[in-house]
Amino acid sequence: MKIDFKKYSSIKIGGIHDIVMIDKIGDYKDFQIIGDANNILISNDPKPMAKLTNRFKYIELANDELVVGGATSSGKLFSYTKKNNIAGFEFISALPGCIAGLVKMNAGLKSYEIFQIVKHINIDGNIVKKDDIIHNYRWTNISGVIYEVVFDLKYGFDKTAVDIFKKMRANQPSTPSAGSCFKNPTGFSAGYLIENVGLKGFRIGDMAYSEIHANFLTNLGDGTYDDAMKLITMAKEKVKDKFGIVLELEIIII
Ligand SMILES: Cc1cc2nc3c(=O)[nH]c(=O)nc-3n(C[C@H](O)[C@H](O)[C@H](O)COP(=O)(O)OP(=O)(O)OC[C@H]3O[C@@H](n4cnc5c(N)ncnc54)[C@H](O)[C@@H]3O)c2cc1C
Repeated sequence: MKIDFKKYSSIKIGGIHDIVMIDKIGDYKDFQIIGDANNILISNDPKPMAKLTNRFKYIELANDELVVGGATSSGKLFSYTKKNNIAGFEFISALPGCIAGLVKMNAGLKSYEIFQIVKHINIDGNIVKKDDIIHNYRWTNISGVIYEVVFDLKYGFDKTAVDIFKKMRANQPSTPSAGSCFKNPTGFSAGYLIENVGLKGFRIGDMAYSEIHANFLTNLGDGTYDDAMKLITMAKEKVKDKFGIVLELEIIII
């Protein structure tokens, strides 16, 4: 299948590429797996890519577990948990992507992260328990394909929490981006550091660090990979020079 990443990716950058569609469990070691492309920046020469088909979009209730196909969107899962009065998924309404992408990135909001509710994961056809996966802030050591995620099931959807999470997002720009550009270094906010070195709102071509939140690298129209990389390099250098801190990318470059 051909995907035009200028349309498909949330940051609206990238060419048209052939994507291998994963319809059943197999060997995809030679491919970069992608999900809904909310956290990736496609380079001018990307690795071959592969992606789960709609066969992996499902949600099933089984005893005390919620079984979710890796390609299921966070929005679908959120709506399902709301409708069925299931607790613990309130924060995912704010995290765009598919469940496999959220799990691989250990996506989260403030003190909430998806690994807090994961039970086990089907990786490359093997059931792997959460405790056997190393995970921390926006990172896991998962290297294979995530086909299915099984969550603990608890009842009691919390509508108040949803409103709180919505408010937390109020400081994020709606301009195309791939979410936070850099991870927050321990004890600092990446946005604060970028703003402090004078890059908030700084623009090269059609790419800019947002005026609303400096850690969002935004595409103002015809932004390119090259301009994005110039801004990324610039922020890393300036923050290193001024604070001695090495900024680490949260965005995945393919
Ligand atoms: C406006 C905006 C706001 C955001 N806010 C947040 C936030 O508050 N918190 C947060 O944590 N994130 C945030 N993000 C980032 C994004 O929501 C998450 O990183 C999400 O997990 C990306 O999911 P995806 O399906 O789009 O994955 P992709 O971007 O397609 O891929 C992300 C990673 O997941 C891997 N992956 C995808 N599918 C699979 C699979 N089946 N098997 C193995 N690996 C796979 C890819 O290889 C890649 O490493 C935001 C993004 C945007 C655009």
